[in-house]
Amino acid sequence: MPTGRLAPSPTGRLHLGHARSFLLAWWHARSRGGRIVLRIEDLDRDRVKPGHVEGVLEDLAWLGLDWDGEPLLQSADTTPLARAVDDLLERGLAYPCVCTRAEVAALSAPHASDDETRYPGTCRGKWRSCAEAERASGRQAAVRLVVEPGLVEVVDGLAGRRSFDVAGSVGDFVIRRRDGAFAYQLAVVVDDARMGVDEVVRGADLLPSAARQKLVQTALGLAHPNWWHVGLVVDESGERLAKRRGDLALASLREAGADPRALVAWAARSSGHACAARLAPRELLRDFRIDRVGASPTRFGQADVDGLRTAQLGA
Ligand code: GLU
Repeated sequence: MPTGRLAPSPTGRLHLGHARSFLLAWWHARSRGGRIVLRIEDLDRDRVKPGHVEGVLEDLAWLGLDWDGEPLLQSADTTPLARAVDDLLERGLAYPCVCTRAEVAALSAPHASDDETRYPGTCRGKWRSCAEAERASGRQAAVRLVVEPGLVEVVDGLAGRRSFDVAGSVGDFVIRRRDGAFAYQLAVVVDDARMGVDEVVRGADLLPSAARQKLVQTALGLAHPNWWHVGLVVDESGERLAKRRGDLALASLREAGADPRALVAWAARSSGHACAARLAPRELLRDFRIDRVGASPTRFGQADVDGLRTAQLGA
């Protein structure tokens, strides 16, 4: 049975863009009789805000989404993550790194397309263990995955066949930070595998991450899921919706008395599905087809915001 997932990060309130991706993931799994599981990605302790885990659950319920089994709070049991890192270290597929962020930034020009820096491999092959690296340097060690040169190909259900130069763009990337926190690229792979997830539907901003995750999966001997990276929601100026746009937060729409079914209908229409002006998620199950969803951005303007706010519950 196909298993998809919803994987929100409780680092801010969910907004329309998240809602659309989650609806698409839910429709894709449920319309084919699949399972859908929920994982709260709360490993980045510095960015997780109090109350947001509860907030995310409320937002999903307000949208009319459900999931199978208990939600997995990622921080609740990190043993499988620790085991995966140890396994990669033991097999020489990962190594300890004591470089600071500032040192890495000074060593390498930012990659052209974003603010990421490419790690030049300074610590590769230097130490046999984290303990040795920490003793020798007097610093905490991070752990990086060894990334061999060459293109990584991702086959995406919407974007098609895409190649990424992981070695050339970020190089050996961090899988456990110097403060001991497990990095997203590792955690998502290990936890998708332990939850039985074999289908990933999420925003197109994460397509380059799929290439990194594919490398982690290969190193750990795990299967690759099928990926569908859906176009992001952008505002009138073509900018990605930001968490700071409070008026687009689901909580603020809910407080304004908006009918979530108007939002669900917009998500369906903006994904190539004709439907009524208001729709409960279940009502699209028979007609939903992921291949109607575009990989390019969907515009959401002020008129759309106003439309949602005025579609009042009970009206
Ligand atoms: N938790 C991530 C986010 O909210 C999504 C991770 C994923 O879907 O792989 O951006």
